[in-house]
Amino acid sequence: MTAVRVGKILSLLEKAYPDAALVLHYKNSLELLIATILAAQCTDERVNKVTETLFKKYKAARDYASAEQEVFEQEIRSTGFYKNKAKNIIACAKELVKRFDGKVPDNMEDLVSLPGVGRKTASVLLGNAFGKQAMAVDTHVFRVSHRLELAKSNDPDKVEQELCKIISHEKWTRSCLVMGIHGRRTCVARKPLCSVCVIEKLCTSPDKTYQSK
Ligand code: SF4
Repeated sequence: MTAVRVGKILSLLEKAYPDAALVLHYKNSLELLIATILAAQCTDERVNKVTETLFKKYKAARDYASAEQEVFEQEIRSTGFYKNKAKNIIACAKELVKRFDGKVPDNMEDLVSLPGVGRKTASVLLGNAFGKQAMAVDTHVFRVSHRLELAKSNDPDKVEQELCKIISHEKWTRSCLVMGIHGRRTCVARKPLCSVCVIEKLCTSPDKTYQSK
């Protein structure tokens, strides 16, 4: 893996997706935290539908902390795995109130100490709500980095480490956004749209559906 190849890939993706941004709707770090927890095993579009109503009712961490679990479960039911998500969100909000004065912490160590928050969720928060550099490896970033042989591990946390080694620090957040959008729009899971892919010449994936001459 050469730095030149990685640089070319990221620069072409940046040109192709200048509008790359999170699909999840949020207005502050708490909303992004809740939306990201809800987005596990669910589409961002579905989460946006649910949070459109949810965020009108729950505005602060203490609102989630005092939510009735059974009521909350029904409010988020359509995002799937709703019992676990409800349990985690309420427990997470209680911790925010107890340990962080109701505020979402802006560092990895504190974020991953919260119930329901893993490194991916923490990185989404750090990179997008707090303007820090963080490598958020979601399912799209995972797939794209594997197809491009930027990472080999089957563990998303290890893929995060692999990407951090080959991508310069100031590009971590942005590179996840452009790889993520490339995975959603072009390098899709089932049948990637390789004939219109801007990095096709740099890709040797066995999943390719088109090979230029
Ligand atoms: S060529 Fe195909 S498999 Fe490779 S990155 Fe592009 S869309 Fe994905």
